[in-house]
Amino acid sequence: PAGRLERLRGRLSRSRSALGQGLLGLLGAGDLDEDSWEEVEDTLLLADLGGATTTEIVERLRERLASRAVRDAEGARAVLRDVLIDALHPDMDRSVRALPHQGAPAVVLIVGVNGTGKTTTVGKLARVLVAEGHKVLLGAADTFRAAAVEQLTTWGERVGAETVRGREGADPAAVAFDAVKRGVESGVDAVLLDTAGRLHTKTGLMDELGKVKRVVEKQAEVDEVLLVLDATTGQNGLTQARVFSEVVDVTGIVLTKLDGTAKGGIVFQVQRELGVPVKLVGLGEGADDLAPFEPAAFVDALLG
Ligand code: GDP
Repeated sequence: PAGRLERLRGRLSRSRSALGQGLLGLLGAGDLDEDSWEEVEDTLLLADLGGATTTEIVERLRERLASRAVRDAEGARAVLRDVLIDALHPDMDRSVRALPHQGAPAVVLIVGVNGTGKTTTVGKLARVLVAEGHKVLLGAADTFRAAAVEQLTTWGERVGAETVRGREGADPAAVAFDAVKRGVESGVDAVLLDTAGRLHTKTGLMDELGKVKRVVEKQAEVDEVLLVLDATTGQNGLTQARVFSEVVDVTGIVLTKLDGTAKGGIVFQVQRELGVPVKLVGLGEGADDLAPFEPAAFVDALLG
């Protein structure tokens, strides 16, 4: 819908001017010399598309613009649009598996480094599911940060979802176990588990998340493991993401804070490097600022 695209455009305004307008300005000028192609490359790199994606996109742009003998801005825009959408693997399944099966609730683990927006994402996702008529339970398994537990409880109250919490410093796996148990007993449709994101050591993280997953699986299947990534952290975020994806089987990415960055290109890189679909994007701090990731709509918003 047009209204939604307008909103997306508004939220991506900084990425738009960095990427969309920059590229369209260059490509719309007709035959490009080597210097101009270098500028195209720089624009992509500055928008955080990463070296490999940039090379691939530039190659495709050159080929297609030449083979179609594109001369005008309109034609260049269409080619650019196609190439960018292709680079996002538009045929990947991006649905969030959050519906119950065989009487048991769907279980969604939300993982990621602290500060990336995990708790906020749990709240926003709960709101979407509740609005669709589902009964949702939140598990505050991020027990290392007292504030996280409070924050999640507040989200629960706001969106109409019960929150199961443990004492501060409680074993995250124990809280996760209790939350899923409670979810099964009370017949909810989905249990969303907020986990701790201490990236102290890889083995520590592995032990912690592994244990959470194991105890949950004693009662219900884990349907989704969503990795939350802060779009503003660039390469650093990507490095962290790699560690997480080695530790747990990540099934989808939530890219947060896309509203606050001129580096929307990180979406391309995340998707390419992790081989996991970006399923949701965070476009603000509010309850309604979570959107499904749709490659074509995203590219249209970027190009303005
Ligand atoms: P956690 O430590 O990973 O659980 O992170 P939080 O959920 O507490 O979020 C950290 C900060 O980022 C909070 O101030 C959130 O309001 C903010 N935040 C989360 N998602 C977004 C987003 O999509 N856009 C913006 N602008 N801020 C966000």
